[in-house]
Amino acid sequence: MNFFAREGGPSSGFTLVLEGLPLADNRTAASRSALMARIGSKDTAPEMSVRRLLFSMGHRYRLHRRDLPGKPDIVFVSKRKAIFVHGCFWHAHGCKIGKLPRTRVRFWKAKMERNVARDIENEHRLHCQGWDVLTIWQCETRDAVLLRERLTLFLSKHS
Ligand SMILES: [Zn+2]
Repeated sequence: MNFFAREGGPSSGFTLVLEGLPLADNRTAASRSALMARIGSKDTAPEMSVRRLLFSMGHRYRLHRRDLPGKPDIVFVSKRKAIFVHGCFWHAHGCKIGKLPRTRVRFWKAKMERNVARDIENEHRLHCQGWDVLTIWQCETRDAVLLRERLTLFLSKHS
């Protein structure tokens, strides 16, 4: 069963997370490490909870397929369905968690706009290649019942 992703294995979503980090800015070391801690724990936790839920529902999937636009977090190859689990902050969800910081507003705004444009482009390219796409926001992973319903619907519908 090596073919399928195993939960708790070495493949967590850290690549995506590190890509989003500002490398040269004027943060103090303390605030940067606070930021990294926040990203390290909270930005990957939503993806893990979606994966765990899918796994418990009996679904098997691949992770972070590099050959697909946007490297979707969770991929069902035979169903041709892909799921992105987006951190509300990095992908500029309009919710409470997704709010921009109050400092360096222009920097963050530009960054978030690029991320959002990239997300739209990736989804469009996937659709063009015949993939069905579901985006789950970090803030939506808190309600397991609702999340399970959405996943069931998405995976059962024929596109
Ligand atoms: Zn959100």
